[in-house]
Amino acid sequence: MSQTETYKKVVILGSGPAGLTAAIYASRAQLEPLVVQGPEPGGQLMITTDVENYPGFADGIMGPELMQQFRAQAERFETEFLNIWIDKVDLSERPFTLYGKESVDSEEITTIIKTETLIISTGASAKWLGIPGEAPAPEGLGGYGVSACATCDGFFFRGKNVVVVGGGDTAMEEALFLTRFATKVTVIHRRDGFRASKIMQERVKGHEKIDILWNTEVNEILGTKETGVTGIKITNNETNEESEFPCEGVFIAIGHKPNTELFKDWLELNEVGYIQTAGRTTETNIEGVFASGDAQDHYYRQAVTAAGTGCMAAIDAERFLAEHGEAKKQTATNW
Ligand code: NAP
Repeated sequence: MSQTETYKKVVILGSGPAGLTAAIYASRAQLEPLVVQGPEPGGQLMITTDVENYPGFADGIMGPELMQQFRAQAERFETEFLNIWIDKVDLSERPFTLYGKESVDSEEITTIIKTETLIISTGASAKWLGIPGEAPAPEGLGGYGVSACATCDGFFFRGKNVVVVGGGDTAMEEALFLTRFATKVTVIHRRDGFRASKIMQERVKGHEKIDILWNTEVNEILGTKETGVTGIKITNNETNEESEFPCEGVFIAIGHKPNTELFKDWLELNEVGYIQTAGRTTETNIEGVFASGDAQDHYYRQAVTAAGTGCMAAIDAERFLAEHGEAKKQTATNW
């Protein structure tokens, strides 16, 4: 097994709006950042359709196109990109060390990245209910009628009867998008009111193809790989009445969890895993490590706020380096 080593002043983990904005700022500050992209390059906007609330695009823009613009802007100032899965970090001293593995021509290569500062922009991933039938095949019906991304899979539900689980903006967006294909969309929510923004709620409530089941929980997804999804078992949590609801597709849209597992032994996280940052900065409890975007923001979670905190993280890293210099130069290391 061979090994490669890289040394950088700034490494940015993640390539959503936060990571790429950090890259634009850090590269324009001539810090030659490296962006390490994980399994979902571009982040959550890559699986979104119309983005109508990102300033500067009066007619809206498609999510993937917006991320392409972010990336092109970062590349213009010579940001470097690496596609690799980082599976271990050592933040005990500067330069920090990141460990990744990649397979090249069936040879496994260990990649070690040393960096003076680290900007974490690893974002968040879709949450699941944890019910029978929901897991990816072969255990469950994931890929056979169960999905967490209408933009990715909606096309396969043309002329079908589908349900969307959740009551936030994501659920509203998924339901509205699915009306382009499905005959009927039923939004199933565990309470008697949505938490989504008023405008999205109104669009859903007023849509002729959308029904709503309030106070309802989904207990199981029914079907086989041969038939695909055929229905769900549900409970009305006011009456405790159980029933089966026939449908051919189930979209889970119950929010996201931050991708911060890698840092749990090093950084202060809140009770659900968001990285804690100090005051109005992006500083974490380790000097030289900064966090931005959905990995640290449990409150706003918007593309534009993620981009804003990415900018802040790059400025924080730049000022940190100006003040503290490079640890590599200060210590006798075997570089
Ligand atoms: P969210 O706002 O956290 O909503 C999650 C929904 O799923 C809630 O209605 C919640 O129910 C429900 N839920 C959570 N766990 C559940 C479980 N185990 N079983 C059943 N239901 C469950 O998440 P989100 O909709 O992904 O939105 C996240 C953020 O992104 C928000 O700030 C949102 O405004 C933003 N966003 C904006 C847009 C847009 O502007 N176009 C699009 C998508 C997202 P309760 O209500 O009962 O808690």
